[in-house]
Amino acid sequence: MPNFDYEAPTSLASALELLARPGEVRPLSGGTDIIDQLKSNRRHADLVVDLKRVPELLTLESNGSGLRIGSAVSCTEVHKYTAEKGGFPALSESTELVGSIHIQNRATVGGNLCNAAPSADTIPALLIHEAVAHTANASGGREIPLIDFFAGPGQTVLEKGEILKELVLPAPSNNTASAYLRFIPRNEMDIAVAGVG
Ligand SMILES: Cc1cc2nc3c(=O)[nH]c(=O)nc-3n(C[C@H](O)[C@H](O)[C@H](O)COP(=O)(O)OP(=O)(O)OC[C@H]3O[C@@H](n4cnc5c(N)ncnc54)[C@H](O)[C@@H]3O)c2cc1C
Repeated sequence: MPNFDYEAPTSLASALELLARPGEVRPLSGGTDIIDQLKSNRRHADLVVDLKRVPELLTLESNGSGLRIGSAVSCTEVHKYTAEKGGFPALSESTELVGSIHIQNRATVGGNLCNAAPSADTIPALLIHEAVAHTANASGGREIPLIDFFAGPGQTVLEKGEILKELVLPAPSNNTASAYLRFIPRNEMDIAVAGVG
């Protein structure tokens, strides 16, 4: 793997300061996409900023108005939380499908979203639940409805120095339900050819 610098900040302010540095600076959440991309030269980084130790990105809570998922929360945590609390079945189903248990323990919903692969399993669930991406950068942040978050396969509208901070999903209306189904050539552990929320 090509050499790069690595930092693991413990506050959002220091993470944003690192992300605003010149050069190719890449956030890492679970690393299950980015490490492979760096190894295979599909992405380049001068500096990798590990976000897993930033407390502000580890929120996972719900109340009457909806669900907040910090960008560094793992798929395992989201699956367990939504399975127990109910209300977001498509998200619960899709987070349990990402890779294997080992991958789900590292991988985040935020990373799945920001990697922006057309095959990403959590994206259809987030779209149908009308998630809003709350971003952060050194000068503030924005709220982006997920329908406006993607600029093409593998591309998002995030700018240099800007990260996904959290996803906010409004509480579903009464008498609604959701589900996620995917078509994969193998029985398990495969990338979706088609995913439907
Ligand atoms: C064996 C294996 C099986 C897999 N199976 C599946 C599968 O079945 N379904 C599926 O959908 N995916 C699968 N994946 C892909 C991957 O695990 C998921 O996309 C995962 O959710 C990525 O999350 P992560 O936290 O590891 O992201 P990372 O690798 O940390 O990051 C992914 C991308 O998002 C960027 N990023 C990360 N966090 C942020 C942030 N907060 N703000 C801005 N940008 C950010 C990174 O710079 C990088 O470009 C698999 C991967 C492996 C290795």
